[in-house]
Amino acid sequence: MTQRDRAIVHMDLDTFFVSCERLLDNRLKGKPVLIGGTSDRGVVASCSYEARKFGIHSAMPMRMAKQLCPEAIVLRGNSGIYTKFSQNVTEVIKESVPLYEKSSIDEFYIDLTGMDKFFGCHQLASELRQRIMKETGLPISFGLSINKTVSKIATGEAKPDNQIQIIKGTEKPFLAPLSIRKIPMVGEVTYKSLCDLGIKRIITVQEMPMQLMHKVLGKNGLSIWKKANGIDNSPVIQYHERKSISTERTFNKDTTDVEKLRSIIIAMTENLAYQLRRGHKLTACVTFKIRYSDFQTYTQQKRISYSSLDSSILPVVLDLFKKLYNRRLLVRLIGVKFSHLVEGGHQINLFEDDEKLINLSTAIDKMRERYGDRSVVSASGMEAKSISRWNPFTGEPPPLLPNRRR
Ligand SMILES: [Mg+2]
Repeated sequence: MTQRDRAIVHMDLDTFFVSCERLLDNRLKGKPVLIGGTSDRGVVASCSYEARKFGIHSAMPMRMAKQLCPEAIVLRGNSGIYTKFSQNVTEVIKESVPLYEKSSIDEFYIDLTGMDKFFGCHQLASELRQRIMKETGLPISFGLSINKTVSKIATGEAKPDNQIQIIKGTEKPFLAPLSIRKIPMVGEVTYKSLCDLGIKRIITVQEMPMQLMHKVLGKNGLSIWKKANGIDNSPVIQYHERKSISTERTFNKDTTDVEKLRSIIIAMTENLAYQLRRGHKLTACVTFKIRYSDFQTYTQQKRISYSSLDSSILPVVLDLFKKLYNRRLLVRLIGVKFSHLVEGGHQINLFEDDEKLINLSTAIDKMRERYGDRSVVSASGMEAKSISRWNPFTGEPPPLLPNRRR
């Protein structure tokens, strides 16, 4: 079996957030719909094809989108609902195929290699697509080819509500006429530098020697060259839902110092929440654990709205600590756990938070990445304060999680 004998499907739900909203309210069908931050400072997280006709695209400022299409229906997103629908789709895929990867809340890679002997991969993929649409009510498109890159690009060409198979050996001619922007790793910055080099279509890269791309754009150029030529050996990585993350601290010397305990709990919580954000996850359940010097252990948990923000999680943890810490005994161990994790946090953040809040949170997380764990504690304290004094200019209350608003 060679790399060229693989059968890789990429499946992507069409305008996923919009489709979910349409299932809940079919009056939205056929209308321009925008989902995102509803204040003027918010951004578009998802928009219907009817809205795209007006030149609207995701990540555009909501204010601009509203100007382009004043009749558009604007909705604040709901992370809990989209996560549920995403899980429904995942369930259907999980039941139908042996090897799949969930690459985001609305995207999957499926490895059907070897299945063609019995059924035909294209037929299998078509049947799976029909089954997903029938069982979940959500439109989905797919691309099928010998690798992930070509299949992902094919899905983009198939959309909306369609499917494409790229027959083995025709990868290069399929890619040739397309914009270089369609290669998944080419972002805005790379696209600009490629345009500056006079490279706009994939065919131009195909006609260039590999060494030249390497010379001009380094390692990045090499990967772009490979992808432009339809070469991608990356495997489909089996998806496992990570159900929880936790952290514990056992004290060298048992303590009753409440202030010390509090500050450690804050640090532990902020660190875990940071890990959630880094993994694009949200939690819906917080557990606190305490063990006294007599080894008696107590735990208590609380369900919360999906979040990865210190400002929503920290008060819950501190409240649980207050409730549980009621024996006048030395404390031996404390622990914090986040469970009921769901993925897709980075997309959900687009409507969960105002642009400024995302930037702030991202900047702080970047600082953490650069300066390490020490800065995590102090920087997070600052973040919590900034969030509680949210947006002093408009007099608006702090942004709540979308699923609380409904
Ligand atoms: Mg999608």
